[in-house]
Amino acid sequence: MAEATLTIIVPCYKEEAVLEKTNYILVELINQLIFTKKINFNSRILYVDDGSTDRTWRMIQQFSAEYQCVTGLKLSRNFGHQGALLSGLQVASEKSDCLVTIDADLQDDPAAIIAFVEAFNQGYEVVYGVRKKRVTDTFFKKNTALFFYEIMNWLGVELVPNHADFRLLSRQAAMQLLNFKERTMFIRGIVPLLGFSSTKVYYDRKKREAGESKYPLQKMIGFSIEGLTSFSIAPIKFILSLGMISLVVALIITIYSISRKVMGDTVSGWTSMMISLWILGGLQLISISIIGLYIGKIFMEVKHRPRFIIEQENFSASFDSIIETN
Ligand code: UDP
Ligand code: MG
Repeated sequence: MAEATLTIIVPCYKEEAVLEKTNYILVELINQLIFTKKINFNSRILYVDDGSTDRTWRMIQQFSAEYQCVTGLKLSRNFGHQGALLSGLQVASEKSDCLVTIDADLQDDPAAIIAFVEAFNQGYEVVYGVRKKRVTDTFFKKNTALFFYEIMNWLGVELVPNHADFRLLSRQAAMQLLNFKERTMFIRGIVPLLGFSSTKVYYDRKKREAGESKYPLQKMIGFSIEGLTSFSIAPIKFILSLGMISLVVALIITIYSISRKVMGDTVSGWTSMMISLWILGGLQLISISIIGLYIGKIFMEVKHRPRFIIEQENFSASFDSIIETN
């Protein structure tokens, strides 16, 4: 069997601090894989500049001029991690047999890609990179992540625990992923829905090499809510039963306060009135806001806006030159 064409997609948002090192390691890795005949030399690294305002795009262009296997794609503005990944997959799928996505900070061990490719060569269409332990993450990040998996699981969303966006997809799997047209895409929730034969590769997650996390608390909460509301209507059901219970409680309170009033005890009636007023008011507010989340989602989805806009890329052209020179 001929060796596969691999594309490593690297989303980059203001990553000038790590990119030099990342590129060095990834080019080495590609060369090693080619040398050991695991992939062929049409294999590429595709950096996706997600609207960085620092030197990231210039660095990508520079690497691309220097190494034949390095290509770049520039989004017209910041579309977020998921948008950057999708744009890379879209541009590279057709020309690749398999595609790996990895973060630019190399917190995920690039050496695991060797095992990814071996699994692909054995016939797996999806390979999940799974962290062994989250020792290097801060206490806060580790626990918020764990809490998130717990909640998602409890709501019946299938997620691979301790797997982020470090994975290999076959061309077929990537094409099918791109067929999911929702605008706000939570990729790691969709991939298990694709089906296909899959396996896991375990690795140690390291500290960020340099630069800082682009996922502060605020973005993490946003990301989690995104994941939740894209996949599950369980919160709505939960609120519904909460509402029913509160109706029963309200009924009891009504009977109670009426009987107190009949006995001439109006002061305590005021208390129960206040309590039920507040409980119901709170419940209504929560319910409305949750429904609002879903309506907001519908609003976003029906517009069918593009999930990313590519300003320029030289991935495709890097193949043309090969044909010409041959
Ligand atoms: N990233 C991106 N667009 C964004 C934010 C992040 O392309 O708007 C990229 C970033 O450059 C990195 C990856 O997504 O390659 C993961 O981001 P980060 O390492 O900051 O997140 P963390 O690992 O802390 O969750
Ligand atoms: Mg990171």
